[in-house]
Amino acid sequence: MEKHLFIDGAYRRGRGAEATCIDPATGKVTGTQFYATTEDVDDAVAAARAALPGWSSRTPGERSTAMLAFAAEVERRAVEFAALETEQTGKSIRLASGFDVPGTIDNIYFFAGAARQLGGLAAGEYGTGGTSMVRREAVGVIGSIAPWNYPLQMAAWKILPAIAAGNTIVLKPAENTPGTSLLFAEAAGAAGIPPGVINIVTGRGREIGEYLVSHQDVAMVSFTGSTAVGRHIMACAAQSGKRVHLELGGKAPLVVFDDADVEAAAHGAVAGAIINGGQDCTAATRAYVQRPLFQAFTTRVAELMDAVVVGDPTDPDTDLGSLITHDHRDRVAGFVDRARAAGASVLAGGYAPDGDLAEGAFYRPTLITGVQQDSEVVQDEIFGPVLVALPFDTDDEGIDLANDTVYGLAASAWTRDVSRSMRASAEIQAGCVWINDHIPVVSELPHGGYKASGFGNDMSIYSLEEYTNIKHVSISRDSAAHKEWQDTVFRVR
Ligand code: NAP
Ligand code: MG
Repeated sequence: MEKHLFIDGAYRRGRGAEATCIDPATGKVTGTQFYATTEDVDDAVAAARAALPGWSSRTPGERSTAMLAFAAEVERRAVEFAALETEQTGKSIRLASGFDVPGTIDNIYFFAGAARQLGGLAAGEYGTGGTSMVRREAVGVIGSIAPWNYPLQMAAWKILPAIAAGNTIVLKPAENTPGTSLLFAEAAGAAGIPPGVINIVTGRGREIGEYLVSHQDVAMVSFTGSTAVGRHIMACAAQSGKRVHLELGGKAPLVVFDDADVEAAAHGAVAGAIINGGQDCTAATRAYVQRPLFQAFTTRVAELMDAVVVGDPTDPDTDLGSLITHDHRDRVAGFVDRARAAGASVLAGGYAPDGDLAEGAFYRPTLITGVQQDSEVVQDEIFGPVLVALPFDTDDEGIDLANDTVYGLAASAWTRDVSRSMRASAEIQAGCVWINDHIPVVSELPHGGYKASGFGNDMSIYSLEEYTNIKHVSISRDSAAHKEWQDTVFRVR
């Protein structure tokens, strides 16, 4: 069967351009992909529109039951999902099978439960002369665009709250990573989620993505990706006044105060910096370390990074697989090379491994010091396994530096002092602040940005706010033809 698009409950071949799928860990071609045309997108939106009345009018319990079966189906096929995620991204199988896939399964179970908890105001009398109640309703057909870094999880974070709330969806995954999104839609169909509720169209963002978000029958756009593209999508959506939910880039700081457990901070920094090859919007990218600990911290981080096993992502012993493409690896290397040329010290990594790994898009975990706060490695999203470390003196300075980028997605602070931890959690401008850890995400808690990292939340019950309209219904209890309040408008004479 040709698995290119998933529309109205079935796979089909895209009528657009042919593209090759490449395994970034080997550079080898793994298959061919036929992208959607704008006509295919029209078909997907039409299918989502047709499915909307039936799906949105199901009871929460019925939607929940269907989603529980969906969760069980993904769970049954977990090994298949993990293997495909590793093949299309080059991430290690340990991460795909220990993080991406179980995280997604838990998300489905969570939203199956959340579907039954769409709260609103209880009916009551508030001075309208009637009884008021609040209805929470599906928005309509959602047009969604996802990035390549966590293809399955990002698709899940978009699809699940949308369908839990009774919407239907058309999702465009990143052009190079459609595999697990297609499999996800297939699993939903196999589990009994009706045709048309989840549709997947593949293709390039500038063509297919832009057409989808501008489509007149799409009621809302949800996007995860870079800040630059997010702003462009917002402008496209503005043409028709659509609701927009944007999860954008990040440049997460890690602030290590001088009373921190330096060993714990070093482990947190390495895990936070290299997870998913650093291709994680919440990855630890800037370590600000209070001066007394700077030397010990950077020495230990460099040691831990040097011991990281980079290699074949399908080997369960591998810590770090390849980056997403060879071009992206070269882009990451470019940042490090320019910093080095400008006088920075590279204390770990800073190169692509050769030998057996020369054909893949690999890059060693890298620690850079000796850079200025305004340098590009500190300010810009590198999206690779690269951590920069800078010293600071006062607590004020540490927090100010942490806040000194355009982004505000995530951050961590490392301290054993309660006051410092409370201060950091209040004053760091980010959608998530971890204290003495960096990265863990769970279905119950929101994920969203401040500043240029976007707005709105994924996961948690807060995400259901994004995907529902709130309607006030008031039923008059006054049977008089002329109501008293109408006197302020006109009197009966
Ligand atoms: P990207 O270049 O912004 O692309 C994201 C998606 O947008 C892709 O599907 C892309 O399609 C599509 N796209 C590109 N141009 C478009 C246009 N003009 N109109 C409509 N769609 C368009 O981001 P990426 O490189 O895939 O992913 C990395 C970025 O995502 C990083 O900035 C990262 O921080 C961010 N991210 C954020 C979060 C979060 O939760 N805040 C989570 C994960 C990733 P193509 O595949 O054709 O390019
Ligand atoms: Mg892209």
